[in-house]
Amino acid sequence: DVLRKLQSQIHVISIASAINEIVQNSIDAQATNIEILLDLNTLSFQVRDNGIGISPADMILICKQHYTSKIRSSKDLADIKTYGFHGMALSSIDSISKLTIISKVKDYNGSRIKMHAGPTKFYSEQNIVKDIIDNPVHPFEKESSGTILIVRNLMYNLPVRSNMAKTEPQYRVFNALREYVLRLSIHNPTVCISVKYLQQSNNLESLFKYEGLKTYKEDNTFNVYLNVLRSIYESIVPYNTLKGVSLKYKQYSVQGVISKSPVRVKHLQFMNINRRTYNNPTLLKTINSLFRECKFEPQENTVKYVGRPYKFYPMFLIDIQGPKNMNDLIQ
Ligand code: ADP
Ligand code: MG
Repeated sequence: DVLRKLQSQIHVISIASAINEIVQNSIDAQATNIEILLDLNTLSFQVRDNGIGISPADMILICKQHYTSKIRSSKDLADIKTYGFHGMALSSIDSISKLTIISKVKDYNGSRIKMHAGPTKFYSEQNIVKDIIDNPVHPFEKESSGTILIVRNLMYNLPVRSNMAKTEPQYRVFNALREYVLRLSIHNPTVCISVKYLQQSNNLESLFKYEGLKTYKEDNTFNVYLNVLRSIYESIVPYNTLKGVSLKYKQYSVQGVISKSPVRVKHLQFMNINRRTYNNPTLLKTINSLFRECKFEPQENTVKYVGRPYKFYPMFLIDIQGPKNMNDLIQ
């Protein structure tokens, strides 16, 4: 158990990364609608999806370290199409929170609950989950399937980290969440993902809602990116200056958007390689200095000199896909 707690730090570094893991599971479970509710005061959250659900047999094994339903043989390992395959996320989160899982598969009439503790104040006040806990048999409609994951008091047994997480400014958690969802949504543009958070006043406020596209063509990624960015970042992104990038070379493809006009915030720089985040500081630094050498003329509405001049950063979202073994380069 101590080992599990220690290992959790590798897999769950923050509340945003925990949510990212859970949402990836929902996408792996073919969900088309994912709703996230967040309470930063208690480091609690809930993710509800309409995916295939967890079978009663799997429910018993879930949260065991290395339990995964996604890899059945070592052959599968070479051709992973899902985000998950380690079976570490849920076991890590379970070891440092009070986790409740409610799930229903289609051909099984009831739902199954795995529960760590009773409902907390936050959720019962909001009546979000109370109904479900009170009526565990019918949280989902008859012919439907899906999963609700409730994580309460993340890091409750890691007081130092929990204090650090609780004092983290709200906007930083929100930005981290935006980035995680952005990275997921550009590859899963038909999946609707919404985030609401609990305000001091106990009202639920929408952070953003990405309405999944009904249809999309693989070759129109520019529109996909624009759509995702607009929903998640609203007015932060200089949309009118965005240009699409689309290159193909042998078995490599590069898709993305890039802004002609630099922005003040550095966190609008995203790179993915084969769907996984690629944050190489050296490469990012090089790109930024190249941009500066080009002496960009910032657009009027992005420049406001207050005291010292601002540093400007190019905004870009670059997605590289190539052969599977390209991932080895990232390690
Ligand atoms: P991994 O994703 O690497 O398999 P996780 O610890 O994230 O490991 O999840 C463990 C298992 O729990 C998954 O393999 C899957 O079978 C099941 N699971 C988790 N979340 C969901 C979900 N939202 N819907 C269906 N199954 C899920
Ligand atoms: Mg997973």
